[in-house]
Amino acid sequence: MPAPHTLDLTSALKPGDLEDFYRDLHRHPELAFREHRTAGKLAARLKGAGYEVTEGVGGTGVVGVLRNGDGPVVWLRADMDALPVQEATGLEYASLTDGIMHACGHDLHVTWLVAAAETLAAGRDVWAGTVVVIGQPGEEAGSGAAAMVADGLHQRFPYPDALLGQHAAPGPAGFYPHTPGLAMSASDDIDVVVHGVGGHGSRPESTVDPVVTASYIVTRLQTVIAREIAASEPAVLTVGAFQAGTSHNIIPAEARLALNLRTQNRRTRDKALEAIRRIVTAECRAAGCPTEPEVDVVSSYPVTVNDPALDARIAATHRELFGEHTVFDFGTVTGSEDFSELAPDGVPYDFWYVTTTPADVWEAAEGEELREKFAGVPGNHSPLFAPDLSVLVPGVRTLVSAALTELEPRRPGTA
Ligand code: ZN
Ligand code: ZN
Repeated sequence: MPAPHTLDLTSALKPGDLEDFYRDLHRHPELAFREHRTAGKLAARLKGAGYEVTEGVGGTGVVGVLRNGDGPVVWLRADMDALPVQEATGLEYASLTDGIMHACGHDLHVTWLVAAAETLAAGRDVWAGTVVVIGQPGEEAGSGAAAMVADGLHQRFPYPDALLGQHAAPGPAGFYPHTPGLAMSASDDIDVVVHGVGGHGSRPESTVDPVVTASYIVTRLQTVIAREIAASEPAVLTVGAFQAGTSHNIIPAEARLALNLRTQNRRTRDKALEAIRRIVTAECRAAGCPTEPEVDVVSSYPVTVNDPALDARIAATHRELFGEHTVFDFGTVTGSEDFSELAPDGVPYDFWYVTTTPADVWEAAEGEELREKFAGVPGNHSPLFAPDLSVLVPGVRTLVSAALTELEPRRPGTA
């Protein structure tokens, strides 16, 4: 008898239905925490498949539970939100909402999750355990996972033995890259407000000029990574916005900076954040600012560190299903995800990719090397991001086979 994860449960799927479901989501994208329609569609399908469904978890989040006897509890996650991007794909099923687009493939994620949930329910005689399906809001806002956790995700539902998820990625359709260990960077957005004293441009002695102070801050912040973080630790600190003033002859009362910090472990992140706070505060004191500056972390993504043993098991399953050459190590990317926040401390998780670039688009991309070609095809967040529909069924199989790898196998008929 073959291992359960090699059973072709996808025969239960009707490809036309999958396409219709996906096209419908793609036509109706919704921004972070406004995924009402998407959440409704997901919830309805899960109920139809026999899941116990809870809606409104962490805002618009959906949790579906399927108990199927004693065994491990496996959580499967898809994020649901779209982006403020004007779609330029020209697809027949392009977004009907002006200025909003599923440019990160979260519509694919939801479609895969729905079909995987239905497939696992239909094939429940070959596995034992509990499947928990999570439709997460607000991934692009960096706070959707945290919102679900704050709303009791870890207490109200069966506690997980493993959390699994996948993301659509550029690359010729038909590959399933896995990264054991550190897969994605942490990212923090930080708002800084420098409070000075405004006044006439001709009388600087009666003011505390926040433009000068903020300029010192920008310059000094360049030393955080260069002088305080070891060269062996990958980290980036960018001042992406500097806003102050309205006219030539007015010294403004405040200046605002928007920073983005990327790090790959908590120690480096905490150290850099502390250095940012110290520098901003000290420069403001040095300038004689009348009130302390504000330094607020407004959105945070943690690092994504796949459990190596879990990743190895699932990568082996995917190799077995799709062929040895289809699974390779993507390495660590500078992109970020809040996926890992859904896992309670110490619970292993695995997050892999499904490549989605249509073959003709990939062929037409300039360059010989893989890296050059990657740069030449529309990636996530591009107004031209248009996954190939051939990835619909494989993305269900990756999820189903991964779940079955972690659930308890049982022979049909042995209940
Ligand atoms: Zn995204
Ligand atoms: Zn995404």
